Parts: sequence; structure tokens; C-alpha cells
Amino acid sequence: MKNASRGINVTSNVKNKKAAEYFRKLEAGGEISHAYLIEGEDMERSMDFARFAASLVLCEAKSGEKPCGKCGSCVKAANDNHPDITVFASAGGRSSFHISDIREMRSDAYVVANEGVGKVYILSDAQDMTAQAQNAMLKLLEEPPAGVKFFILARRREQLLPTVISRCQIVNLGSSEYDAEIPDEAYDAMTKLLAISGTRFDFFSYFISLRPKRDAALILLGGMRNLAGQLLVLKTAKTKNDGTRDERTDKLLRLGSARFFAAASDELAEAISAAEGNANINALFTALAFALWSAKTEKA
Ligand SMILES: [Zn+2]
Repeated sequence: MKNASRGINVTSNVKNKKAAEYFRKLEAGGEISHAYLIEGEDMERSMDFARFAASLVLCEAKSGEKPCGKCGSCVKAANDNHPDITVFASAGGRSSFHISDIREMRSDAYVVANEGVGKVYILSDAQDMTAQAQNAMLKLLEEPPAGVKFFILARRREQLLPTVISRCQIVNLGSSEYDAEIPDEAYDAMTKLLAISGTRFDFFSYFISLRPKRDAALILLGGMRNLAGQLLVLKTAKTKNDGTRDERTDKLLRLGSARFFAAASDELAEAISAAEGNANINALFTALAFALWSAKTEKA
């Protein structure tokens, strides 16, 4: 179901300031990927974020902060009549998002952008897509037409097919966690894991020794995940320390690669949903130790 009539407010609606900042930095570096899975229970919030990202991508400002809110593209986006921003939404309810929408999107995506900058497709409540609809989207995600970006909004990533998830960058807007405080133990754990220069055995035994009870585990893993996300932003944006960054963050940035932080963030997110789903904590820490070790030692 195509839905073109919802208001937009460029930035003030965006509750996830850090995620917005992250996108601004990606955009400035020309590093915005072609497909994002925006994950979060609050669909309205995800929609605000997707609209912000769409304005950012299509903003015509030559200098200054984007989205500028003043150029023709920003104004059209704000008035919800930008010809190159198209929203598809589920009709409401599981499997109510059909392949016909994806076919429509697919034929449209190959037509050159009206304004010449690019095109954005926002898929709201994508967890309601049928398997056929998701499969129909794969090729488009794999070989997207030039200048086309997809923002796929879903409540939880695991509601989508793995083949779709693996073709997207993931942004989690879950519970304002991008803005959360990170506990000291998350810094400590991340630093030790990266600094261990010994064998896989040393790495495993350290990580498994941390293994706390479920509630504490969720706090630790949540903190580590947020930390990995923030470090990834800093790595990707290659920002210089402006004096506000603390020493422990700098140390972590020296120890880990962007690739590690990206992998760690994904692995930790998976572990968190497993822990929330009552997975065995021992088994979970063992699996996570293996995944983090692989991420750490993987050759670029
Ligand atoms: Zn603009």
C-alpha cells in the first residue's frame, strides 16, 4: 500500500540524535549504504528517522549541515511531496505487505530520479511483508540501481528473512539505546577483549569468566553493544579527538578496527535478543566468545 501523505519534520522529530549524527557523518564521507534496516518497536519513531535520512540523502545544500531544511529538495520532503521519496507501508497485520507493492517499487526504482539526485524508498512495517514480497526484493537489494536507497523499517530484524537482513546495514533505534549511558564494565570488557594478545584460550576464558546472571548479562551485553556502535561511528567518521573524548575511548579506537566493531555490534545484538528470549546464558557466552574471537582475528 503506497502512502504518500504523512507530514515530515526534518530533524526535530528525530529522537535518536546519535543515530542521526552517525548518518550525517556517513553522508559527509559519501559512505551511506544503499540499504538500511531500521529496527525498532516504535514505528512512528522509525518513520521519523527514515524521513530524516531521506532528506539528508537528497538535500541539495553545497555546504553547511544537511538536511538544510531550505533547499528545494528539503522543502518538498517537508511538505511530503518529494517526487523521489516513496513510502510503501503494510496494510496492517502480518502478511499484509504484498509482492505487488514490491513489483511496483521495482519498476519505479529503475526509472531515473525526477530531480536527478537520487531516489529513496521507505518500507514501513516491513515485518508484515510476505515471504514472496521479501524474495522479490532481494535482487534489488543486491544490485540496486544507481542512486537508489532503501530504508526498510521493521520492529525486529528476525521477523525478516535472513537473506534480506544480510543485504542491509542495520540501525537499531530500539529503546533510545544510542543515547544510553555505557556502564564501566562494558568499557573494561571491551578493552580486555581487544587487548588480549594471547591465544584463543585466553580470550575465551576471560570472556566466559565474565558470565553473569541474566539481568546483569543483559546490562553488560547492552553496554558493550552500544559501545561497539559508538566506536564504529567514530572509526567510520575518522573524527579527530576534539578534547571531549576520554582516554579509554581513544584506547579502544586504537585497539579495534571498524570491521571488528561492526561485527561485534551485530553479534552482541543477536546475543541480547537470545538472552531476552531465555537462552541459556552459559551457551550464549560461549557462542559469543567464539563470534567475537573470529571477528577479532579475521583478516581484512
Ligand atoms: Zn536541503
